[in-house]
Amino acid sequence: MKVLKFGGTSVGSAERMKNVADLIQNGDAKIVVLSAMSGTTNKLVQLAEALYQNKNDDANAQIDALHDNYKQVVESLYITSEKKKQANELLTHHFDFIRAFTQDLFTIHEERAILAQGELLSTALFQFFLEEQGIPSVLLSALNFMKIDENEEPDAAYIAKNIKTELEKYPESKLFITQGYICRNAFGEIDNLKRGGSDYSASLIGAAVDASEIQIWTDIDGMHNNDPRIVKNTYPIAELSFDEAAELAYFGAKILHPSSVLPAKQKNIPVRLLNTMQPEAKGTIIQSERSGGGIKAVAAKDDITAIKIKSGRMLLAYGFLRSVFEVFERFKTPIDMITTSEVAVSITIDNSKYLSEIVAELETFGQVEVDEDQTIICIVGDFIADRSGSGLKIFEALKDIPLRMISYGGSKNNISLLINKSDKVEALTKLNEGIF
Ligand code: ADP
Ligand code: ASP
Ligand code: MG
Repeated sequence: MKVLKFGGTSVGSAERMKNVADLIQNGDAKIVVLSAMSGTTNKLVQLAEALYQNKNDDANAQIDALHDNYKQVVESLYITSEKKKQANELLTHHFDFIRAFTQDLFTIHEERAILAQGELLSTALFQFFLEEQGIPSVLLSALNFMKIDENEEPDAAYIAKNIKTELEKYPESKLFITQGYICRNAFGEIDNLKRGGSDYSASLIGAAVDASEIQIWTDIDGMHNNDPRIVKNTYPIAELSFDEAAELAYFGAKILHPSSVLPAKQKNIPVRLLNTMQPEAKGTIIQSERSGGGIKAVAAKDDITAIKIKSGRMLLAYGFLRSVFEVFERFKTPIDMITTSEVAVSITIDNSKYLSEIVAELETFGQVEVDEDQTIICIVGDFIADRSGSGLKIFEALKDIPLRMISYGGSKNNISLLINKSDKVEALTKLNEGIF
């Protein structure tokens, strides 16, 4: 069994959906995970914002506009009037459901139900298309097996058990379609795996069914060595190890959801990144084999907050770092980077929800400084194989950019630097010229 995930652009129009149908028809057993059509989730987010602000006229106009877009998709996707009718009834059903939220109190629960509509729509429309084409397939609802627990972490055992139950209902079927991104939470409510979460769905499903391969089909020919949205002359990387890919995804390479590598790594399932617009391109293969040394790629993660704690008490004290870490643990705030000296420790976080509470507690240990709008630049590769020289190349390239923190040696795959967000474009550009 293979798992194939198609992202928003890959299912972004009737034409693209037809293209996906062509790509999945080789007779192998597969589960096809679809995102919402591109732009839909953003529009649903905007809609939720309008509803939170009680801007109901605005919200109704947005709903009508989105409904109209989908009616056009239906018009160009199907041939027969029966399928068009059936698909339009489906749209009416979903958009009436969305419209109902303009009548009532709007809370996080309603928001999550709205955000789920994009994937519910794309998969249902695609399934209708396969039916019309006479391609046998089964639409599975991710809401019947995809689940997060009370810590918002996927419940792998539940997912494995329930997806197997679903698959066993159709022993004759080889092609399954399901939604990315959406899930149920610990209370059984509709929830999601956060923006970009369809990649995560695909790897969780891959791990749950012990897939032979997970394919992430998107709008670019694999993981590039640098952010192609920011830097010119980037190129695809043929091979990455799980750890290298995980670092890049976590530190900002948007092509993969930050958590999506781990489930594949745990089950040692290769992940292939492929381009729907250019299916013959080699793409990137992510697997456990060593994939050669040297610097491979650079990524950047924005909206980082740096916190420095200066304390006389740290001098020769043991237990100090533990006390500091416990503060972050109490506020469920993960730490990304850490550097220490004898008198101070600097830490970065990307979730500043509890920043003021964290700072208040840290101030009991010493003087605290906070810098917002920071960016982590993460340089990924195999720095053991390429033991000397990498550091020099990196620092030479960045010689004109102030570096706030440097982290090296935590893993053999990563050198991380903290800079001001305003220096990001220059840093990525200089690194592209200097290290590749
Ligand atoms: P999808 O909708 O298929 O999930 P995404 O937009 O989430 O697609 O991810 C693909 C995009 O990621 C590319 O179009 C590209 O602009 C962006 N991207 C950022 N960094 C990288 C990188 N290092 N390599 C490839 N793509 C990247
Ligand atoms: N549709 C969701 C989003 O736009 C999930 C995804 O595309 O991966 O974030
Ligand atoms: Mg994505």
